[in-house]
Amino acid sequence: MENTGRKQNNGPASPTDRGDDADSRDPHTTFLDELRRMRILVVDDNSDNIDLARAMLAKSGFMNTVAASSGTLALNLLAQNTANNQCRIDLVLLDIMMPNMDGYEVCGRIRSQIEWADIPVIMITANAMWQDEIASISFTAGATDIMFKPIRRVELIPRVISALSLKRERDLRKSREDELVIELAERRIVEERLNHLVTHDDLTGLCNRRQLEKALDRVAHRAEHNGVASGLLYLDLDQFKVINDLEGYTVGDEVLIAISRLLRRHFGAAHLVCRVSADEFAVVIEEADDKAVLGTAESLHRLMDNYRVDVNKRTYHIGASIGVVLIHPDDGLSANTILARANQACFAAKSHGRNLVHLYSKEDAEMDILRSAAHWVPIIRAALAEQRFCLVYQPVLNVTNGRFQHYEVLIRLINTDNQLVSPVNFIPVAESMGLIHDIDRWVVLSAINMLATLPPELAHVSLNINLSGYSFQDPTLFALIRDQITERGIDANRLIFEITETAAIANAEQTRQMIIRLRELGCQFALDDFGSGFNSFAYIKNFPVDFLKIDGSFITNLPNSAMDQSLVKSIIDVAHSLGKKTVAEFVENQAVLDMLTDLGIDYAQGYFVGEPRRTIDVRGDAHDEA
Ligand code: C2E
Ligand code: CA
Ligand code: CA
Repeated sequence: MENTGRKQNNGPASPTDRGDDADSRDPHTTFLDELRRMRILVVDDNSDNIDLARAMLAKSGFMNTVAASSGTLALNLLAQNTANNQCRIDLVLLDIMMPNMDGYEVCGRIRSQIEWADIPVIMITANAMWQDEIASISFTAGATDIMFKPIRRVELIPRVISALSLKRERDLRKSREDELVIELAERRIVEERLNHLVTHDDLTGLCNRRQLEKALDRVAHRAEHNGVASGLLYLDLDQFKVINDLEGYTVGDEVLIAISRLLRRHFGAAHLVCRVSADEFAVVIEEADDKAVLGTAESLHRLMDNYRVDVNKRTYHIGASIGVVLIHPDDGLSANTILARANQACFAAKSHGRNLVHLYSKEDAEMDILRSAAHWVPIIRAALAEQRFCLVYQPVLNVTNGRFQHYEVLIRLINTDNQLVSPVNFIPVAESMGLIHDIDRWVVLSAINMLATLPPELAHVSLNINLSGYSFQDPTLFALIRDQITERGIDANRLIFEITETAAIANAEQTRQMIIRLRELGCQFALDDFGSGFNSFAYIKNFPVDFLKIDGSFITNLPNSAMDQSLVKSIIDVAHSLGKKTVAEFVENQAVLDMLTDLGIDYAQGYFVGEPRRTIDVRGDAHDEA
């Protein structure tokens, strides 16, 4: 306990010195009133002294006093006033000279009890020649202050006020700390719940893709560091689409559930079974050599080959194409590579005639890359040279005010038949072949040009521009954006850059730096496809973004999925608690929009709100009836 006692005379003494009658006009009234409600314990073996002290306190408005005539009784009173680790006594006036248990001992006991450690204690004793020594022993015992008799009110009250205000401040600080602890705990719960939701597949209860990625991380790690070999089976149902088309989605769902059960029974708890997409499953075979992995793949193939589904008196043979990847200790494979290889092997199994097991080989991957890159690279180069790109603009509805202030910019490639090609076909190739920077620059220039040439009645419109994860590896992009903003004289906050969560995480530090620099210019940022990564919440804190754009996969089926609803709600709540706005994409009907509005979404985007178009017109903003 610090010796604050010596400084306390220059504390907030003035209000009381002026007397009690001035209180109602005093600006300190409320604060003082709060102090006056605090409880003071007076301890003295002489009842006259107790009466005197209580009378002085009462005269200054401190009516909430209790008294004890011995050290033992004082400790009893403190105990009676203690519940839930809190004591309702806020100050002790403690006589030193008492029979049996003196003030020093009482004070020492008060300090040793955790619930009482913060209660200020003012020691009171007869005037004596050895004042310094008494003071020294008192402070060693834990006293806050010391006073010598005779006690005068003008001296007592300022010290009481000082001690009580210190106590009150400490109480407030402590309760704020408690609140913070609770708030953090609540956020942890939300994260935990979210983690559970995002790791399981809604329909079948199997683990989902995110969980698979985690397991593969573990497998890759164990291969590299512990020399443990494993395998991955990737399974694509050959005839599922037929059933879905002929018998309808409900039957399709039932078949998926039945197959999930079959797989779970077949593999038991030994291997992780995941549903990766509609009709694709994966099985992680941990701690297994090549022979064991291939044997398991063959037995899975037989299982699926013998499996029949009876629907409406028809029997279906579904069959599966199975891709196999062997994971060896010295391969140095990442989780992503393992998954990509399994995919390619599965594709090869399918193209070799379905219902087969295919072990991954290098040619599968090369075929895969060539198939897309060889095709697309010349087309992209030509498009860049001949300006065969264009932008379309999709309106984003501000749900709160019903206005369209944001438009997302989406690139299209104009092919030789003058048809518009979606970027999902060429952006991945452009990224892997280093052509993305030219595309990014073209998009940024065109979008800023669009902003600069909009008519004055659309001066409130902001554009959302998608940046690839690779964009930030181009050091000239920042300068281009900065110079364009100045040259074209546009307001920087009309540019909102979207970056996907996965891309942001892949280059976390570079991305963070770029976000910070662009925000310094006044630009805004959105984290796109939020929730599709498997550790989303851990990352929001790292990226100083203005908007979270909830991944469309959680939105399309919202009214029918309780799980999506609670996930979306959690995202919205956490985003708001961090001061960020939320956007839902893929809003395709009124029911989804209504539900999102109820959940407190800030912005909505999707075919129902408005499709991407070649122009931004005033119509967009007058679209309130949407
Ligand atoms: P994204 O940023 O998530 O963009 C949303 C995509 O969903 C767009 O596809 C959009 O047309 C589509 N969409 C909009 N509303 C709905 C809806 O209600 N339902 C469904 N099912 N889809 C909807 P798009 O234009 O084909 O773009 C695909 C992806 O390509 C974008 O995903 C974005 O990641 C990337 N991309 C688009 N333009 C650019 C660009 O200029 N630069 C870069 N680097 N990437 C871009
Ligand atoms: Ca986007
Ligand atoms: Ca998106």
